[in-house]
Order: sequence, then C-alpha cells, then structure tokens
Amino acid sequence: MSDLPAAPELPLIPGRECGECNVCCVSLTIDDAEMQKPQGYRCRNTLPDKRCAIYPTRPRTCREFFCGWRQLKWIRQTMRPDVSGVLVRQHGEISKTDGTPRIGVIFTLLTNAALKAEGLAESVAAAVAADIPVYLSIPGPPGYTSSSARINEVLLHAVQTSDKEEVLRILRAARAKGRAGKHVPIVMKKHPPAQA
Ligand code: SF4
Ligand code: SF4
Repeated sequence: MSDLPAAPELPLIPGRECGECNVCCVSLTIDDAEMQKPQGYRCRNTLPDKRCAIYPTRPRTCREFFCGWRQLKWIRQTMRPDVSGVLVRQHGEISKTDGTPRIGVIFTLLTNAALKAEGLAESVAAAVAADIPVYLSIPGPPGYTSSSARINEVLLHAVQTSDKEEVLRILRAARAKGRAGKHVPIVMKKHPPAQA
C-alpha cells in the first residue's frame, strides 16, 4: 500500500463528458489483478468507436479514474485530453517542508502539439497561483516510464507577472529536458492468482 494520500473523489463537472476521448485507455498504466497494461499502449478492450468492450467489468483502475479535465474547474474547458494532447491527473504527496499530505496535479504532455493547446498556459498558471504542487510529465516510449519534474518554482515569476509567453517558453524547455530524461521499462507487479 502506498503511504501517499489518495486524491479526493471530486464531483464531476457538469457538461464535461468523455465523448470520443479515450486517452486514459492508452496513457494509463493499469496494474490490477484483473488486467495489466503499461502506459502508451492502447488497451486491447478498446472498441473501434473508442468505447470499452468490457465496461461493466472493467478493472478497478478504470472504474476509479477520472482525469483532471472532468474534475477540476480551473482546468480550461478547451483542455479535453484528446483535443489538447494534455492529460491532467491529481497526485497525492507528502509535503517535504511540513510533512502534511497534499494533493498536486500532473500535466502530461502527450503530443508535440500539446504545448500549443488552447488553455494550457492558463490552466498551469492557475494551479501555480493557487500554490498547488504542479508537475510536468513527459511520457517515454510505450511501455517506458515518464520523466516528471515539479515546475512551481521555475514558473512562479512568469505567473506572478502574467507573462504567458514566458510560461510557454519554460514549459517548452521543461518538455525538451523531460524528453531527454531517463525512461526505463515499466515492471508490473506480481498478482496472486485469482481464487477458483
Ligand atoms: S482522459 Fe478524461 S476525458 Fe478522456 S476518456 Fe479519460 S476520463 Fe474521459
Ligand atoms: S478496460 Fe476498458 S476502460 Fe479500461 S483501459 Fe481498457 S478499454 Fe479503457
């Protein structure tokens, strides 16, 4: 069991539906007893129209997951993951300064075009301005880990001076650094065989 605080189960934002998005069916690592899949690979249960072939019995990770776009109202409306190329997730962590549990957010830039997503700079700036821990995550090749770095401190001045271009420049530089970072193969857990 992880000691990290669980992300709160927030109510979903009315009017924000998954629609044709199924980014989480590709981008998440699923490591449940029922099913295992490393990030970057499309789940084998995805139908051609992007629905889930096993929806009523989908694994726990799928049942419990909603991305930040569906839960966090300060993530801009334009940021649906399949449109923006940005997947936002909540992230539980323990503060290094006072040891208290905190909830941060991870912005994963999935595509080259993600840096041009309408609302990216504003959404990141809103989190930094609210002193929410913000991480930028850059996926490795399919089946490999992402590289991730906290970006609050490097963005603070640009956010405080409302300098959108500087926010984007810093995100661009952080993405380049993340792409060159270390990505290692994802190792799945060993799950006990299901009881007969
Ligand atoms: S990434 Fe978000 S919007 Fe897209 S399918 Fe998953 S929960 Fe729905
Ligand atoms: S089991 Fe269904 S909901 Fe879960 S990743 Fe696969 S297609 Fe998506």
